[in-house]
Amino acid sequence: MPMKHQVEPHLEGVFLLELDSSAPSGGCGSKLLSSLLASTARVVTHPSSLEAYSSWGACDSFFWQIQFADDMQEFTKFPTKTGRRSLSRSISQSSTDSYSSAASYTDSSDDEVSPRDKQQTNSKGSSNFCVKNIKQAEFGRREIEIAEQDMSALISLRKRAQGEKPLAGAKIVGCTHITAQTAVLIETLCALGAQCRWSACNIYSTQNEVAAALAEAGVAVFAWKGESEDDFWWCIDRCVNMDGWQANMILDDGGDLTHWVYKKYPNVFKKIRGIVEESVTGVHRLYQLSKAGKLCVPAMNVNDSVTKQKFDNLYCCRESILDGLKRTTDVMFGGKQVVVCGYGEVGKGCCAALKALGAIVYITEIDPICALQACMDGFRVVKLSEVIRQVDVVITCTGNKNVVTREHLDRMKNSCIVCNMGHSNTEIDVTSLRTPELTWERVRSQVDHVIWPDGKRVVLLAEGRLLNLSCSTVPTFVLSITATTQALALIELYNAPEGRYKQDVYLLPKKMDEYVASLHLPSFDAHLTELTDDQAKYLGLNKNGPFKPNYYRY
Ligand code: NAD
Repeated sequence: MPMKHQVEPHLEGVFLLELDSSAPSGGCGSKLLSSLLASTARVVTHPSSLEAYSSWGACDSFFWQIQFADDMQEFTKFPTKTGRRSLSRSISQSSTDSYSSAASYTDSSDDEVSPRDKQQTNSKGSSNFCVKNIKQAEFGRREIEIAEQDMSALISLRKRAQGEKPLAGAKIVGCTHITAQTAVLIETLCALGAQCRWSACNIYSTQNEVAAALAEAGVAVFAWKGESEDDFWWCIDRCVNMDGWQANMILDDGGDLTHWVYKKYPNVFKKIRGIVEESVTGVHRLYQLSKAGKLCVPAMNVNDSVTKQKFDNLYCCRESILDGLKRTTDVMFGGKQVVVCGYGEVGKGCCAALKALGAIVYITEIDPICALQACMDGFRVVKLSEVIRQVDVVITCTGNKNVVTREHLDRMKNSCIVCNMGHSNTEIDVTSLRTPELTWERVRSQVDHVIWPDGKRVVLLAEGRLLNLSCSTVPTFVLSITATTQALALIELYNAPEGRYKQDVYLLPKKMDEYVASLHLPSFDAHLTELTDDQAKYLGLNKNGPFKPNYYRY
């Protein structure tokens, strides 16, 4: 297991965001975070900490001590929880692990001409993009505005920081799902001063109308739903390979963009200040590069930030598992027997939702700790083979391969529903079902009946690909948390003084995780308790955090 580095100076009373007075590009120095944090924090210079800081690497910076103020409630002025359709989400998914997303309202078959063969210009005469149909921009804009309603923390970050432009001079090349929610992130980065060129990290997940809206707004976006593999790499190439424009930051989801730059344009890394990576897969690749001594710039592992892993994986799945199952099968859960493979963050989320509806839930686990957690949460821990004949639904969420084998599939009862919530389509051995004696019947979009010679049917959802991304929508609010973390990671890496980050993979400092969480609290009208001086002393904490040691598991 590669080492993860958490950059945190552990300085009593000192916040992580050091402001480099000599920072280049557009005055992103000491003004940067005062604007970023002004509304939620009292910011106090802390020169006494300079000594400690110099030993950590950057001498000519200022320290700021941040105390979150009660006036955080001002964020509630941004509308939240209003009626909306949250269309899709950003999660790691490699290009080869394709799925048909429920994300787009536009039918990709509406126009058979490849976007690559079309001449399109936006209303300002720019043709610096390649999308399905620029005329869908107005529709896409509405979708982005709807997403903004539930991403108030990200919008507040945008409003707060746009005066200072902490990303002025940043040239970000991005590769993520292109959805209404990621559009809010991209437009936030632009509002903070960045220039962006963007492609999709998955060939099916682009919302065409959203891509059109971004192109109309001037973002160089190269993406459409239903790209071929060749289109996929062509789009990435168009983002990276541009005369007179060279990226200095990478925002990646899945590692394909980073891989392409390494393979085709290694010189680009001379100018790159850092990579921000969101996905399990991409982060894994970065650690491999680091281990091999081939990582040539600092990288931020957003996937393992508390505000990603403990929210996206748990709450997102808790909220979307039932949606995916119900849209595809209309199944009623009360009294149904469900087996969930894997009791990690995703498994815990799924089980909580299923239990709440009265399902009888069994768990399979390889890890005694997670198994014990499942027992204490009131679930029966079993081997899959023990319950496979009786269960009505099988859900995998292990991140592993061949968890559900052909043997299991053979033994399932008639009408058993099988689906996967893990990252890739490796968990269910779907390939083993493509044999002559079994008949496949497509009964609905993303729903196949696999029929055995004796008439038994197994209901396979999304061909074993991520159920919630393929068959339902996911909550925008959770994506706001992830997107805010990504934005801060970019700001931090872009503005970090020389020497703070080396050619390695880092986790966001805990204080920044806490900051992301605090930005989202006003949506719930949550009121934090402040430590008294006496209590802070007793616990050995700074009143303004970080509130937990790095080893705390939440
Ligand atoms: P995790 O590591 O917390 O949990 C996975 C669990 O599966 C672990 O407890 C592990 O012990 C267990 N496991 C591994 N192999 C097993 C096997 N053969 N049988 C039974 N249990 C086994 O990971 P996580 O955060 O829960 O993520 C799980 C997967 O879901 C990953 O692939 C992740 O990328 C993906 N994910 C999906 C979504 C989504 O929206 N669907 C969101 C986040 C993450």
